[in-house]
Amino acid sequence: MAVTSALAINHHDYPHTPNPVFDNSPTFQMACRQLDAVAEVIDIDRGVLQRMSLPKRAIVVSIPVRMDDGRTEVFTGYRVQHSLTSGPSKGGLRYHPSVDLGEVAALAMWMSWKCGLMNLPFGGAKGGIGVDPAQLSRGENERLTRRFTEEVLSVIGPRMDVMAPDLGTDEQTMAWIMDTYSMKIGYACPEIVTGKPVELGGCIGRREATGRGVTYCILEAMKELNLRPAETTAVVQGFGNVGSVVCQELAKNGIKIVAVGDRYGSIRNLKGIDIAALTRHVAEGNLLKDFPGAEPIAPPELLLTPCTVLVPAALERVIHKDNAKKLRCRILAEGANGPTTPEADEMLNDSGIFMIPDVLCNAGGVTVSYFEWVQDIQQFLWTEEEINQRLRELMLRAFHQVRSLACERHLSMRTAALSLGVQKVAKEKLRRGLYP
Ligand code: NAD
Repeated sequence: MAVTSALAINHHDYPHTPNPVFDNSPTFQMACRQLDAVAEVIDIDRGVLQRMSLPKRAIVVSIPVRMDDGRTEVFTGYRVQHSLTSGPSKGGLRYHPSVDLGEVAALAMWMSWKCGLMNLPFGGAKGGIGVDPAQLSRGENERLTRRFTEEVLSVIGPRMDVMAPDLGTDEQTMAWIMDTYSMKIGYACPEIVTGKPVELGGCIGRREATGRGVTYCILEAMKELNLRPAETTAVVQGFGNVGSVVCQELAKNGIKIVAVGDRYGSIRNLKGIDIAALTRHVAEGNLLKDFPGAEPIAPPELLLTPCTVLVPAALERVIHKDNAKKLRCRILAEGANGPTTPEADEMLNDSGIFMIPDVLCNAGGVTVSYFEWVQDIQQFLWTEEEINQRLRELMLRAFHQVRSLACERHLSMRTAALSLGVQKVAKEKLRRGLYP
């Protein structure tokens, strides 16, 4: 498949518009460098490229919260809508102490390319609050979430911008957002968020969708590389929504998980970690690092543990120029968004590691979010089999589109995946004109 467009004009001498608000963020710089790399290989209108290098809309809000001890604490929240061209904007809401505007803007841009690649009728968005949710009581978390929702009310809506869980947020967070929004408009509006509890109109399988999509990609890559799952091993960084499901799904397919880590520590057992037992251990409120069926290791060793498949499923920029050459894996499956810096990317391109880039690898989450949104709007629920089958179909279609383009044009898997996503958004922008 050629990445060209009848509408396109080849002007990529000035790919990225400098912007003092976002440019200080290393994550935003990373997203812009990736866009620049795509502009090198596809024909793309210069004006469209400039528009796509910045978010369409960004809002910063202060969120005063009454804490349990009576104090008032003020948190900073962000919602960034990168593109409003393709439909409502769509993207997660993240609670993490290091969240800032540039990071959220980068994540919103990646969402646009991901929705483009998966052919979903959404633009990209992302939100975040600079907070460590582990330090909040449930009541504080609820008041924070409800107040944030009030603050961004004017820019969200089922046809405007739809949130979903991300790092540090979950189904309960979405339930509070749905309730706050519904109370404002006067009737229940499940389609305002995705990733809600099933009893509030959430989609069966949404919680597992990202991890399942990652697993489909890994199994497909193994086929290409003639690897038999039963003879392979995996290392997973992060044991939250994405990481824990990846571990469970890989284990189900006979892949031995030899090391896992989270923010509190990492563990290893070269004979294979019993994932069902680890899941129970964590669900009972214990720390992953205290799991008796494995030995603790220093966190930096986790990513360097020899394995067939390495899955970063936690934070951005964990694979960088200082550790990229030391990775000992055959497949790198990016469950997290932006786990590999551009410098590391270049090093990995020559390493023979089969890369499954984030915009493809973790796209199962937004894909099933799309299914959830469609079901809520139609008020017609699908079965679990329908959802899983459609997810698998869309993931495999995207995987093979990216793989074919990468092979045909001798591109890295990342550049191929981004090219397809960027091209889709660019075509829509050209057709529509300067609005939105
Ligand atoms: P989560 O909050 O459920 O889990 C995050 C995990 O990362 C936790 O186990 C946490 O302990 C671990 N972690 C945090 N800091 C760490 C550190 N310094 N070192 C090692 N581990 C650390 O979040 P999630 O929803 O699983 O999201 C993880 C990543 O996947 C993020 O990059 C997110 O943007 C991406 N993602 C999530 C979804 C989704 O549907 N939830 C979809 C697409 C992409």
